[in-house]
Amino acid sequence: MHRPPKINLFAGAHVDRLAIDRRDPGVLTKALGEAGARVVPIWGSETLIHEGDPAHALLLAPEECLDHLDGPEQLILLGRYRGAPLFVADLGHAPATQGRGQVLDLRMAGNLLDFNEAGMLAYARAMVFWKRRHRHCGSCGAAAVPERAGHVMRCSDGACGATWFPRVDPAIIVLVTDGERALLGRQAAWPAGRYSTLAGFVEPGESLEDTVHREVFEETGVRLAGIEYHSSQPWPFPSSLMLGFTAMAASTDIRVDDDELEDARWFSRDDITAGRVVLPPPTSVSFQLISSWFDRGGVGTLAELAGRCTWQGR
Ligand SMILES: [Zn+2]
Repeated sequence: MHRPPKINLFAGAHVDRLAIDRRDPGVLTKALGEAGARVVPIWGSETLIHEGDPAHALLLAPEECLDHLDGPEQLILLGRYRGAPLFVADLGHAPATQGRGQVLDLRMAGNLLDFNEAGMLAYARAMVFWKRRHRHCGSCGAAAVPERAGHVMRCSDGACGATWFPRVDPAIIVLVTDGERALLGRQAAWPAGRYSTLAGFVEPGESLEDTVHREVFEETGVRLAGIEYHSSQPWPFPSSLMLGFTAMAASTDIRVDDDELEDARWFSRDDITAGRVVLPPPTSVSFQLISSWFDRGGVGTLAELAGRCTWQGR
């Protein structure tokens, strides 16, 4: 499996998005007529994975999907993938797979998939979930209709004509350390022993740095001395972009906000090596952030440890 360094699962420019071609009103029909055009099917929150090869998505021919849609304009053109046009179709709630493949939510399939396939499916899922929530104009309430190969929803009321674009909701995720220890928190709903890095949505009027300072102080009472950007991860459940940071603590006393977290603690590398904490899976940006600190301690890498430990993927 090809995983470039510092590129997280669900990220990567695996699909040529044909962003300029979408300006041509005929692009969807032309792409649909190409031999080899394929469709990512989505039912509810689930898609289709090869039965015997869970690293790969099972794509459908357009004619297998069009009967389940009001018209071809309901397809969204994702772009060009593996040399052929690729669409996504929202096929409602009844899988019509004729018994082919496994029907799985991307959250469940993410760990099994090839890196490129996971990125492609994350894009497909995000587009379908956006479109579902923009069937009506947010300004006047009239029905909205797809344009630009499905990448714009336009209000059907000519007097309004508002346009709605796919949205991404930025959220920060941050590993705070005091050098020797990492500050991790847990939510009450998580499996026993699971702790992770702190996270929260960016609010209007905030810079990313503002959000990092605010979230860490709100959730744990810890003040920060410095912040560094690490990497980001699309998180299409339904539309987040996780922006990963590392930060150095300026204070160490913890005051947990129990509306957000059940507990927050400082963990040493020894705590992690001894299995006293269940960490998030290696596919998460959270794991990558914790690794970036843990791996500097001279006690091996977090990835090696995860390969041996029972907490992997729990
Ligand atoms: Zn409108």
